[in-house]
Amino acid sequence: MSALLEALRAAVGAPQVLTEGDLSAWELDWRQRYRGKALAVVRPGSTAEVAAVVKACAAHAASLVPQGGNTGLVGASVPDASGTQVLLSLARLNRVRAIDAANLTMTVEAGCVLQAVQDTADAAGLLFPLSLAAEGSCTIGGNLATNAGGTQVLRYGNARDLCLGLEVVTATGAVWDGLSGLRKDNTGYDLRDLYIGSEGTLGVITAATLKLHPRPAASGTALAACATIDDAVALLGLAQARLGAGLTGFELMGRFALSLVEKHFPTLPRPLAPSPWTVLLEHSDTESEAHARTAFEGLLEAALEAGCIGDAAVAESVQQSRQLWHLRESIPLAQAEEGLNIKHDIALPVSRIPAFVAHTDALLAQRFRGVRLVNFGHLGDGNLHYNVQAPDGVAAADFLREHEAAVNESVYDAVLAHGGSISAEHGIGALKREQLPRYKSPVALDLMRAIKQALDPQGRMNPGRLL
Ligand code: FAD
Ligand code: ZN
Repeated sequence: MSALLEALRAAVGAPQVLTEGDLSAWELDWRQRYRGKALAVVRPGSTAEVAAVVKACAAHAASLVPQGGNTGLVGASVPDASGTQVLLSLARLNRVRAIDAANLTMTVEAGCVLQAVQDTADAAGLLFPLSLAAEGSCTIGGNLATNAGGTQVLRYGNARDLCLGLEVVTATGAVWDGLSGLRKDNTGYDLRDLYIGSEGTLGVITAATLKLHPRPAASGTALAACATIDDAVALLGLAQARLGAGLTGFELMGRFALSLVEKHFPTLPRPLAPSPWTVLLEHSDTESEAHARTAFEGLLEAALEAGCIGDAAVAESVQQSRQLWHLRESIPLAQAEEGLNIKHDIALPVSRIPAFVAHTDALLAQRFRGVRLVNFGHLGDGNLHYNVQAPDGVAAADFLREHEAAVNESVYDAVLAHGGSISAEHGIGALKREQLPRYKSPVALDLMRAIKQALDPQGRMNPGRLL
């Protein structure tokens, strides 16, 4: 191992190879469920240095775990406990290489923090729409490696839809420059799309050419109260019909989820009385503030008339709009305050969500008496965060130890029966790896294994994750 450490020091310089002191920033995941031990934390500063690190690991038969902001939620960004894996931090690859306003693209290195990418696009009068609560610390490399979603997918797509090209250091240490910025390129298999969503298991993303959008002239935010989840789905259809591409966000929040926000963040304004479901709508307009307002109010009036909402509140200012988003974004934090829970990041056809929720709520209530469901998510994308909290008065850790596996099976079996996916936006990682074979077709899994074998024949890239 000391020969490998020597080779790593030669590749990136001794100060960028960390082996001592508190390395928990790299070894412990964001949810604090996975703690590993790295042989070393290595921090290259350029693509060439990344390639040198990968080659050094290959020469010494060591495996690698790429890491960006370490905000991933499925335990794929930290090393295992063996003390033999090299943690490859991309954080120092953080330069913006170019902006091409006419082509509506921007080329950035993998370690650029998402918020910095958004700010750079904004300063150029353009929009990079990927947006999620971890944007102050997650990196574009991590966003692409997990194909992150977030709150604007309905209009702009997920990370995959926002990327036109990649630069990748392959598992053997070769550099593939695919930073074309082309919107059309049918010259064979799509290598870019293989690396996107691969969770660091095929190669290291070192840079990306991202798709930018014109900045909307105005936007509006509203909350609407729905009596049933069918009503929320009907509201979505109405909003899509009336606002078209102007509908940029459609977030669902269950009554219990919002009650946790009220309990743990009592100072946050709640403009609507509690109702079984609350929807947050966001609308962007390319014309003007006044145009945006008229369209938005027209929609809400039509929804009231159609009976799919009982009440609505429209934000009157940017500050009020932020407050509404704050309610939505506080749900994960409020549920963390409430104690450990069992998270499910699931996707379903929007049309089947009401039936799925009715079926699964009843099933869980029957099998696990008293469980509390923190159900919220990106309804516009058919993506629910369907989380299960221990019954009131039951110690969360005990409940999880006893029931986590059975709860997961109940939920995921129901997801499968309703034509859904067990991971909508967070990935598989270590967390869902054991479950994947039960819920993914054997043919698809065989093809995935063949791709892994072809691109990483020695199995050195983030082993034990995903497959
Ligand atoms: P890391 O956590 O460092 O890594 C994640 C995975 O990508 C690992 O498998 C790692 O090996 C791999 N990886 C990282 N960088 C590279 C690279 N350069 N090349 C190859 N592989 C790499 N996700 C959503 O989709 N939508 C949300 O709304 C959302 N909200 C979140 C809110 C919070 C508060 C938190 C903590 C997380 C949230 N996430 C969400 C999870 C999301 O996956 C991450 O926040 C983000 O996309 C990961 O970026 P990162 O740089 O932190 O990656
Ligand atoms: Zn989400």
